[in-house]
Amino acid sequence: MTHLIIGAGAAAISAVRIILREKPDDRVVIVSQDEEVYSRCMLHRVISGERDAAGINFINDGVLNNKRVQWIKGKTVTRLDAGAKTVYAGDEALASGDRVLIATGANSVTPPIGELKTAKNAFGLRHITDSRSIAARAHDAKEVAIIGAGLVGLDAAYALLELGKKITIIEMAPTALAINLDARAAAAYQERFEAKGAVFHLGRKVVNTRGDGKGFITGVEMDNGVTVPCGMVVMAVGVRPATAFLEGGGVELTERKAVKVDDRLAATAPGIYAAGDAAGLSGIWPNAQKQGTLAAYNMTGTDWPYDDRFALKNTINFFGLPSLSLGAINPQEGDQVLIREDRNNYQKLILRAGAPAGIILQGEIGGSGFWQYLIKNKIRVDTLGKSPWKVSYADFYGVENNGEYKWAV
Ligand SMILES: Cc1cc2nc3c(=O)[nH]c(=O)nc-3n(C[C@H](O)[C@H](O)[C@H](O)COP(=O)(O)OP(=O)(O)OC[C@H]3O[C@@H](n4cnc5c(N)ncnc54)[C@H](O)[C@@H]3O)c2cc1C
Repeated sequence: MTHLIIGAGAAAISAVRIILREKPDDRVVIVSQDEEVYSRCMLHRVISGERDAAGINFINDGVLNNKRVQWIKGKTVTRLDAGAKTVYAGDEALASGDRVLIATGANSVTPPIGELKTAKNAFGLRHITDSRSIAARAHDAKEVAIIGAGLVGLDAAYALLELGKKITIIEMAPTALAINLDARAAAAYQERFEAKGAVFHLGRKVVNTRGDGKGFITGVEMDNGVTVPCGMVVMAVGVRPATAFLEGGGVELTERKAVKVDDRLAATAPGIYAAGDAAGLSGIWPNAQKQGTLAAYNMTGTDWPYDDRFALKNTINFFGLPSLSLGAINPQEGDQVLIREDRNNYQKLILRAGAPAGIILQGEIGGSGFWQYLIKNKIRVDTLGKSPWKVSYADFYGVENNGEYKWAV
């Protein structure tokens, strides 16, 4: 049997490993726009010049050198014939398979504002080609405007500060990292970026651009009428699943243009699966890998439901300050909030009906597996007669008859 995998990112590579292991006689054909395999989480290191593509390659087991793997690289799929399970680039049929995995990730969103869509010096940051374009343009741009203060925007800011650029970050939300952290934890990063010279405009929208008439943006105008001068713009306002090649074909998409999947990560056409950002269930690396793994099990005949829709896990590290957030970031009405902090640490626990609904750890971030389990399974910690901060594995473990430890809740 041949497994056709579209994409060569986190989800795809995880799937390849499982298929090769589970089905020793099967073949894998990968078709990808990328010509290299690399971690998108490390793209800022390519902008700053600290690493090249090989330096951010996340494969350490030579999986793509396996004789049963064929990798067709540098090809953008423009159509999937879901019935024939064949992918095309224009009129050229690239490859076919008995099973197909759509693992095409996502693309940066370009807001329809001013000349952002057409300017020669406005870039998203999603692919290694974006990092290279940003690094090349950085030679001629002293000032950079970054739209969006989420993880991707701050990655770009971090790299461009390393290159000595003057950075201005414009963000609609009232805080940086608004979907990852609460205001207190985000402020710790903002302060560190400001100490390196970055300027933040929070709660502000970009409404227009100024240009030089030759295709280059020279400034971005905010909704307060102020224009930020710049020689380059980095847009980091979100992503959209890379599924344009499926429009109008036999594979149904959700409203947000993700591949519609069931709990086996199967798409609506038989024999076709999706994993990672293309499936729209989450937008983070570890979940893409897990989905790739699970999809591959289902493609190779092991029935394995994807029940881990616990997507809200973030780890962040800038300037040596690590943070981790799990589940809810800000409380709802009726929640109890417990905070512990000292000079080096900030920890916030949100309890909902006595069970952890979210936690933020900044500084010391150990124990995430434990908290993740409690949050996912809504395990009450208010009935143990001790501070929730003192709760540990020992409070929940039982021992099986055979001596193995197990969760006793
Ligand atoms: C700058 C940046 C920083 C990030 N930081 C973090 C972080 O710190 N922590 C975290 O958990 N996550 C982070 N992420 C998110 C994480 O990288 C993604 O969730 C993850 O890469 C998704 O994996 P994927 O396999 O679904 O897609 P991708 O890794 O995007 O891979 C998609 C693959 O599909 C190929 N492809 C796309 N369209 C086509 C097509 N039409 N034809 C052929 N091939 C195609 C691409 O070339 C690529 O090989 C970051 C992302 C970016 C961009």
